[in-house]
Amino acid sequence: MVVGKQRPKRAAPGSMQRGQAEEDVDDLANDSPERGCSDSRSREVKPRNGGRVAPTISSPHGRRAAELLESLCFLPEVFVFDLDDTLWKGDVDCTEGPPFRLNGQRELVARHGTGVTLFEDVPEIFEWLHGTGQRAAIASHTSTPDWADMALTLFKTATGVTYSKIAGVKEMHGASKTVHLTRIAKRAGCERQSMVFFDNMQYNIDDGEAVDVLSSFTPRGLTWDKFLECLIEFDRRAVADRGPPPPVRSAVRPSR
Ligand SMILES: [Mg+2]
Repeated sequence: MVVGKQRPKRAAPGSMQRGQAEEDVDDLANDSPERGCSDSRSREVKPRNGGRVAPTISSPHGRRAAELLESLCFLPEVFVFDLDDTLWKGDVDCTEGPPFRLNGQRELVARHGTGVTLFEDVPEIFEWLHGTGQRAAIASHTSTPDWADMALTLFKTATGVTYSKIAGVKEMHGASKTVHLTRIAKRAGCERQSMVFFDNMQYNIDDGEAVDVLSSFTPRGLTWDKFLECLIEFDRRAVADRGPPPPVRSAVRPSR
């Protein structure tokens, strides 16, 4: 996205002050019309649903986040997620393994009853990813990638699309996150600077930032607040690098 241009010095998203993030959200809501980005046609990535918030995003904070995301000028080309304690609470390789089954929408139960549970906002965030046609990927150190893939295949959107399909590019092995992210960018055919990365461990965030991937520290798991905070920062940097998209000309001529 910013190939050939010097990127400004980055601040680690994990170090962003909570108050600052909240101000960003408020500022975004107030300022977006002046930025010329409120028309979805000017976006780098166009939503497939015509700009409507999917009905499967029903929580008030999720709907507000999705509405704010509509106001951004730029979105990442690939959203990369860690698994254990980022998408779900617990380690899938610490369960007793398959056969797995779901108990409700968020709880994965392993052979003898142990399991992992999706964090509360994750189902809606995956609904948004799929509903707006985003590309996603997994970067995980799990020692049981086959179990992780079973879990990602059992978790589905309301329309039955598996998380494994939504996050189609997977790097699940013991290499560092720098290796994961570099391989994901290569496999996805994009620049590392065009991706964002979410992880619950600070040293993985440091690895992500070291290879110029905007990385969001999620110590309590992925939430709408963290997701939105990261994408606002991504948009801010993209606008700083490239400037806002040109105004969209109206195709409708004024009536005489
Ligand atoms: Mg983790």
